[in-house]
Amino acid sequence: MAKEYKGIIASTGIAMANIFLFTREEIKINKDKISKDDIASQTDKIKKAIDSYTKDLDNRKDLSQEELKIKEAHKELLSDPYFIDTISSKISEELKNAELALDETVKEMVAVISGLDDEYLKERADDYKDVGRQVMYKLKGIIPKDLSKLGEKSIIVSKELTPSDTSNMDKENVLGFATDLGGKTSHTSIIAQTLDIPAIVGMRDLSNKIEGGEFAIIDGNLGTIIVDPDEKTIDEYSKKLKEIEEKKKRLEEVKDREVRTSDGKKIEVSANIGNLDDLEIAIKRGCDGVGLFRTEFIYMESDHFPTEEEQFEIYKKAAIMLEGKPLIIRTLDIGGDKGLNYFEFPKEENPFLGYRAIRLCLDKVDIFKDQLRALLRASAFGNIKVMLPYVISVDELLKTRKIVEDLKDDLREKNIAFNEDLNLGIMVETPAAVIMADKLIKYADFFSIGTNDLTQYVLAVDRGNDLISNLYNPYNPAVLRAIKHIIEESHKAGKWTGMCGQFAGDTKASKLLLGLGLDEYSASSNKIAEIKDILLKSNQKEEEKFANKILDMEDAKQAEESVEEHNK
Ligand code: PEP
Ligand code: MG
Repeated sequence: MAKEYKGIIASTGIAMANIFLFTREEIKINKDKISKDDIASQTDKIKKAIDSYTKDLDNRKDLSQEELKIKEAHKELLSDPYFIDTISSKISEELKNAELALDETVKEMVAVISGLDDEYLKERADDYKDVGRQVMYKLKGIIPKDLSKLGEKSIIVSKELTPSDTSNMDKENVLGFATDLGGKTSHTSIIAQTLDIPAIVGMRDLSNKIEGGEFAIIDGNLGTIIVDPDEKTIDEYSKKLKEIEEKKKRLEEVKDREVRTSDGKKIEVSANIGNLDDLEIAIKRGCDGVGLFRTEFIYMESDHFPTEEEQFEIYKKAAIMLEGKPLIIRTLDIGGDKGLNYFEFPKEENPFLGYRAIRLCLDKVDIFKDQLRALLRASAFGNIKVMLPYVISVDELLKTRKIVEDLKDDLREKNIAFNEDLNLGIMVETPAAVIMADKLIKYADFFSIGTNDLTQYVLAVDRGNDLISNLYNPYNPAVLRAIKHIIEESHKAGKWTGMCGQFAGDTKASKLLLGLGLDEYSASSNKIAEIKDILLKSNQKEEEKFANKILDMEDAKQAEESVEEHNK
């Protein structure tokens, strides 16, 4: 009998295969007290176990960004004096044996961070548990079960999957994951997204209900796993899978192609990213560059304003990973709905129209300078361009240019390398920037249209308010005319315009945007190949004629329906 279980979607897609039930060996902790004579030998034992796991980590090569980050986190923990000192003092002062001392220390550390009011840190508790378990295996001389030889294509069901489980996994044969534990940002989710396979987490006690070897369908789009499905369901999913695979194959062929329309217009299809893991995925998915690196995530995941050095390392890595392809980094866009734990924002009646983004940066110039200096230094390592959010005036752009020039003088004096021609562009996401586009483009090297904010401010419709979500529509000719105007002004000045708002990733709008003259699309990386596929088959001049008709329409509904019709 077919059984269906539902969990939290961690990665989309569909897979059908037999289940490989991955269970862990139960570890029994020896609770015997030791005598004073045993202190030295027990301390030595734990040190050797830690050394041995450290060596294993050092031997792990060819790692993905995510795996590299985990390796570094594990190594940091293993050499953390607090970790080692706590275990040692439990042995020497409380006369606990090495196993018990390790077990208690890890549990205490996990309890502290699990109690924090921070989802991201909470999930890092998994790293602590993982390190503890690996060191325990070493102490007890256990060779752990692993996923390195699956033998056949499989869906993995497990209570949880730790970084150590997935690091040497037989990736060729893993078609999907379903785990009892884990959230959207857990390790399982990140790995599944990197591998582009479906995953469902938070399945509670699924692993207890499975024997292993059952045939199953995992639907990452619905967040379900169907165990022992009936013939009809298998047929339905076989069809869906076939369609998905055919599309995947076609997109696989176009994803790395340079896009030129049939009449020769060159277009860049870039990715929006929030961190280096996103970038790694985007590169695999064929991005021509990054059109928006939302740096606020670096600030939001930190417990202090990230230093120049911390930021420099991230921007430099990203620039190197892109091997000369454009990397547009947006300066801090904080405020509105995005806060920081370590910075008190003023109480405001209307924070979305308040102290945020470029306004905050020009007020707290030291914070801004740290970021701009990090960006300038990193610009020596690749094709970095800087982009300012939420600009409303030439003044903001000129003030920023002045800060950048002063920083350049200082770097020159100190003989620190940077790109003298670093491009500085702006996001056009306020009505003021649209209206002043002809003036702004004199001082900006490029425009990137932020349709998420632009739509809400042009239409005066809150982008997060469900009550009026029917009015929030970028197909509204008012928004489309704004887009057209922005692009025209940049072209008149011999410059280019991209788009990094979500509208750029709406594949229904790809041809319309081409017709409006867009030069660069920047979207979530899973959209890249599809956008390229559409543009490669399109003709810019023809789409321009169609776009002009749309611009002449009277409302959003008419415009959107006409676009749908045109795409058929
Ligand atoms: C936008 O407003 O379109 C944009 C890309 O910025 P964010 O969504 O980060 O506000
Ligand atoms: Mg915005």
